[in-house]
Amino acid sequence: MERLTAVEQRAPGAWQVATVASIRLETPRVKTFRIALGMWVAHLPGQHYEVRLTADDGYRAQRSYSIASSPLLEGEVELTVERLEDGEVSMYMHDVLGVGDEIEVRGPFATYFVWRGEEPVLLLGGGSGVVPLMSMLRHRRLTAPQLPMRMLYSVRSPEDLIYGAELGEETTLTYSRSAPPGWTGHIGRIDEAMIVRAAAGFTSGPAFVCGSNGFVESASRHLLTAGFPPASVRTERFGPSG
Ligand SMILES: Cc1cc2nc3c(=O)[nH]c(=O)nc-3n(C[C@H](O)[C@H](O)[C@H](O)COP(=O)(O)OP(=O)(O)OC[C@H]3O[C@@H](n4cnc5c(N)ncnc54)[C@H](O)[C@@H]3O)c2cc1C
Repeated sequence: MERLTAVEQRAPGAWQVATVASIRLETPRVKTFRIALGMWVAHLPGQHYEVRLTADDGYRAQRSYSIASSPLLEGEVELTVERLEDGEVSMYMHDVLGVGDEIEVRGPFATYFVWRGEEPVLLLGGGSGVVPLMSMLRHRRLTAPQLPMRMLYSVRSPEDLIYGAELGEETTLTYSRSAPPGWTGHIGRIDEAMIVRAAAGFTSGPAFVCGSNGFVESASRHLLTAGFPPASVRTERFGPSG
């Protein structure tokens, strides 16, 4: 735990040209890019980087991507990106960017969506919203495995499941559209009953909610009706779809 609290939230560094060290296919539509940074600073789990693309004519597109890795991965960060149809930046990263290529990045960016080692912690992720939560989960496993942490993770179908092999006993998974054959776990969206069960024994501590606008709205509402004080609910919204 000392290693986590020792990391202070700083102003993000300048833009830098980083190198793609490796690319991992997580699902048919999601890839993880391990980025090697010349100017690396340890992040707090939950923080994000900005990625900037510049065309030959000077046109620029800039998007935010959460850090998936633990801050203990020195000199590198992992960004997990979902490929959106017609998505300017995500399609470039999926279809053009290769290992050894350079990419312009800036970060890590400070927000209130950071885990500083408070306990216990409840994580609610929808789709690619699991990315910053995975940084929290990974870091907790490395630094404070005894600390209570539970994650509720909602995906539409089996082919949308990110980090499937890494989801441990802390995670309760639910399939909102179609479940794999023989699935005996949760089906449907995260609801109040799931939250109450997951939070049993948690008397304090923050809840982190991340996903699409629709997911964040609905999951936050359920947290409040389950008794979480508004000040304990921290949210990060990735985009417009519900
Ligand atoms: C703080 C923060 C952290 C983020 N972290 C991640 C991350 O870890 N992984 C990740 O994949 N994305 C993440 N996002 C979303 C990311 O920044 C981009 O918005 C996303 O990749 C789409 O960019 P694009 O250029 O590909 O698509 P655009 O060209 O911007 O949009 C293409 C189409 O997709 C729609 N769209 C835009 N964003 C989304 C979305 N998130 N979901 C559904 N439809 C959308 C647009 O309305 C448009 O119709 C994060 C966003 C924020 C604000």
